[in-house]
Amino acid sequence: MAKGNIGVTSDNIFPVIKKFLYSDHEIFLRELVSNAVDATQKLKTLAAVGDFKGELGDLTVRVDVNKKKGTLTITDRGIGMTADEIDKYINQIAFSGAEEFLEKYKNDAQAIIGHFGLGFYSSFMVSKKVEIFTQSYQAETTAQHWSCKGDPEYTLEDTIKADRGTEIVLHIDDDNKDFLEDAKIQELLTKYCKFLPIEIAFGKKKEWKDGKNVETKNDNIINITNPAWTRKPADLTDEDYNAFYHELNPMAEDPLFHIHLNVDYPFNLTGILYFPKIKNNIEMQRNKIQLYCNQVYVTDHVENIVPEYLTLLHGVIDSPDIPLNVSRSYLQSDSNVKKISSHITKKVADRLNEIFKADRLQFEEKWDNLKLFIQYGMLSDEKFYERAEKFALLKNIDGKYFTFDEYKTLVGENQKDKNGDVIYLYANNSDEQYSYIQHAKDKGYDVLIMDGQLDVHVVSQLEQKFEKTRFVRVDSDVIDKIIQKDDTSKVTLSNDQRDALVTVFDSQIPTLEKTNFIVTFEQLEATTSPVFITQNEFMRRMKEMSSLQGGMMSFYGEMPDSYNLVVNTAHPIIEKILTDEETACGASIAPITTELSDVKTKHDKLKETHKDKKDEEVPAAEKTELEELQKKMDELTDHKKAVLKSFASETKQVRQLIDLALLASNMLKGEALANFVKRSVELL
Ligand code: ADP
Repeated sequence: MAKGNIGVTSDNIFPVIKKFLYSDHEIFLRELVSNAVDATQKLKTLAAVGDFKGELGDLTVRVDVNKKKGTLTITDRGIGMTADEIDKYINQIAFSGAEEFLEKYKNDAQAIIGHFGLGFYSSFMVSKKVEIFTQSYQAETTAQHWSCKGDPEYTLEDTIKADRGTEIVLHIDDDNKDFLEDAKIQELLTKYCKFLPIEIAFGKKKEWKDGKNVETKNDNIINITNPAWTRKPADLTDEDYNAFYHELNPMAEDPLFHIHLNVDYPFNLTGILYFPKIKNNIEMQRNKIQLYCNQVYVTDHVENIVPEYLTLLHGVIDSPDIPLNVSRSYLQSDSNVKKISSHITKKVADRLNEIFKADRLQFEEKWDNLKLFIQYGMLSDEKFYERAEKFALLKNIDGKYFTFDEYKTLVGENQKDKNGDVIYLYANNSDEQYSYIQHAKDKGYDVLIMDGQLDVHVVSQLEQKFEKTRFVRVDSDVIDKIIQKDDTSKVTLSNDQRDALVTVFDSQIPTLEKTNFIVTFEQLEATTSPVFITQNEFMRRMKEMSSLQGGMMSFYGEMPDSYNLVVNTAHPIIEKILTDEETACGASIAPITTELSDVKTKHDKLKETHKDKKDEEVPAAEKTELEELQKKMDELTDHKKAVLKSFASETKQVRQLIDLALLASNMLKGEALANFVKRSVELL
């Protein structure tokens, strides 16, 4: 029996392994099973080239738990190891400056294990003793038994082992008893080994028989050896792709599209990405791309390998060329990784373009589900925007889809305003903005529907991209003002009439929380609504942005919503209200107005004499007089307003018109709505 010391520069690598690699304990199983798979594949390769002439036989890799003995065993029928090989591959760990390195990467077990070929030694994270029983495939070699108790000493001796291959026996230590639980091992094998290329059996399949869960004779195979991404696209049907998708996401709906990646230059990469069917909640869907290295699961955190917006996709990427076992910051700067990322972007865009061209109808049908990904990509990656602008779609209120170019052709001339700007009209709620949409349509304009999660940002982006183009929501102003063809007719009210109408309407606007109204006038067609509500595009967008972004923008978020209550002075009802007001209030208001104007003249004259005087030069008596005149003016104004208010409150039509406008904008709620209904009945 040979005894020796494990060849590392540091004497005590084992405590270090145990201590520092704590967080990722479970990966030991992945390391051992993939070693077994590698050894098996090597043997298959040797057989294929004629260097191994024996019987391959059953090559299943077996994982067994023996709870009584406290062991976990991984058995393969691969190439095995000779005594020399054990010495070379197991005893002499290529390792230098161990402690320094471990110190540096102590939080990243993956890095240490992979980088330094410590795969096998990760078994000491969970074991108090590890044994290897191995018989090389080579003729005239003796089976070997290696044993080590987690210190730098090992023993190596000849043994008898009938079967070719390697058996690794882990004597699980007391702190890691959970690795002796079937359920735990099943879970880990499913997580890390699900798509390994050699069958892995974990015990026997179980079956319910007579109310009991009993073992059958059949192996419990936990993996699929030839997952879809390793096969040729030509050999796969849509059903195969969907079936594989459900293998990864058992509960999900069918995906929209798949993209089969297959690159061999300048790096190796295969994989399948799926566009999942989701509508909302970006967050929930992340981390659905799994990264594999030669079919061994590595991680589902691929942020550094695929562009951020593509982390919304689902699927698998497999590449032996991604330096998996280095730290994350290194990944970000690795040029291979960058190439992979831009390659995936290109592939995704190409594929979308291909589907768009080959089957526009199908593409349109899926657009509503797809657009989140595409818009996200366009917003976050200029390169992707350039590719996607050919197939990205705009949807109008009638459910028709247009490419950017097509839409420009449609509205380019018709919706050009007097300054030569093309106005893209949009709505974000076809029900709430129904009447505004209708007005626009009556004018022969087209209205887009922009109701997606990212549309607020998309609108800003497209305004920057498209020349002389503005997006304006249909309810942000009177349609003739949104698309101003010429200087629209001026409102023909006198100042007194204007003031009177402002008071009449303003006094009847109900108080809504965090909402302001400003009464404005437009001389529109007599057929347009008498009163309606608009919200300034700029202010509304600022608020929308602020609610999405917070931070700097929250200033806008704090502000009340400000709306215009637009009164159409050309409407007969408004004309009538005005004449009624003049008849009803004329007699009482006329003397007030005259007096007011007298007081005002006096006030202004006196003020004029003070123009060139400093404050202290103005005599106190004159100051008092000015104050009194001002007070008088305020009183008279209030008085006038009171007359108008009382007229307004008696003229039920005023409140009725305001409520109708609120109703059309979906702003009439609760008690105000109930009162409206009641008043409507009374008016009938
Ligand atoms: P790595 O797999 O990264 O090379 P490991 O420490 O896991 O590092 O394994 C070291 C070497 O030991 C392997 O490269 C292989 O030559 C040998 N080895 C490990 N496990 C087996 C096995 N089950 N059968 C045959 N050889 C093995």
